[in-house]
Amino acid sequence: KLYNQVQDLKGSIRVYCRVRPFLPGQSSFSSTIGQMEDDTIAINTAPRHGKSLKSFTFNKVFGPSATQEEVFSDMQPLIRSVLDGYNVCIFAYGQTGSGKTYTMSGPRDLTEKSQGVNYRALGDLFLLAEQRKDTFRYDIAVQMIEIYNEQVRDLLVIDGSNKRLEIRNSSQKGLSVPDASLVPVYSTFDVIDLMKVGHKNRAVGSTALNDRSSRSHSCLTVHVQGRDLTSGAVHRGCMHLVDLAGSERVDKSEVTGDRLKEAQHINRSLSALGDVIASLAHKNPHVPYRNSKLTQLLQDSLGGQAKTLMFVHISPEADAVGETISTLKFAERVA
Ligand code: ADP
Ligand code: MG
Repeated sequence: KLYNQVQDLKGSIRVYCRVRPFLPGQSSFSSTIGQMEDDTIAINTAPRHGKSLKSFTFNKVFGPSATQEEVFSDMQPLIRSVLDGYNVCIFAYGQTGSGKTYTMSGPRDLTEKSQGVNYRALGDLFLLAEQRKDTFRYDIAVQMIEIYNEQVRDLLVIDGSNKRLEIRNSSQKGLSVPDASLVPVYSTFDVIDLMKVGHKNRAVGSTALNDRSSRSHSCLTVHVQGRDLTSGAVHRGCMHLVDLAGSERVDKSEVTGDRLKEAQHINRSLSALGDVIASLAHKNPHVPYRNSKLTQLLQDSLGGQAKTLMFVHISPEADAVGETISTLKFAERVA
């Protein structure tokens, strides 16, 4: 209800900001975070040279002490709308280390309390489906893919095979990656098992010095089909939960070869995403979906009746101030 009211005022795109707390061992002496309000955050743009505050406004700001539960409950109505046949995209944007994976999945040593949006969203959909079981029958299935260097890979293959997948926007089943594994899920336990497979497959190609997960986009897609038990009418909704590649700019004078190629792919796809969301937010007649695999993948779920939530993450450290400001500027552009 609340979501729809907000939506009437603001269109179907919302932008949230989340600030990571200082990590154990980090000194909180020179924080870039000035005043925080419900929807506004002031950043000290010169944390080492006194004070120079610049404010940014969002639909909502979550400070360092916000819990996973608080974050989720704010998004709950949006997530629930998938069962009513809406398409939803939730993005986690920010530099590496700013908390994107924490928001979407949780920390490495996951507990029930620290579970991120992915687990909570599916848990909530199962719960709601159960509550509605006298009037609706819901079938829920998930896909999990990765986009790395503009190539799409299935993260739910058991044998870890590395087949490249194609994106089709007009497949019969309404799937944009019809050849990626589509796995029916019935409980949160199923989801936890699947995420383990996905995370394991995602780690392929990473080394200690070379964490590929921060340089690829991963997307968990939840497909829902609902049948009205009285009328027999069927509707479909889907939700994409996207943990984006790190948005940090690499210094072109410092990297070469594969690393430079990766960085260029990431830059291009994140700006393509920004262009699409900005065009939608400003109701431009032309929306440039074709410019990246990511925006092609999500084409049917961005714009139109679809609901989008861009979650930008920032780190509080003084060292991160440059990236923090560029993240907030990206957010300002799409809002
Ligand atoms: P990213 O995915 O953006 O690279 P991570 O989610 O891996 O960043 O976060 C970096 C580190 O900070 C991890 O150790 C993570 O557990 C921790 N962290 C991130 N956000 C929070 C938070 N809101 N509360 C506590 N720890 C967090
Ligand atoms: Mg991450």
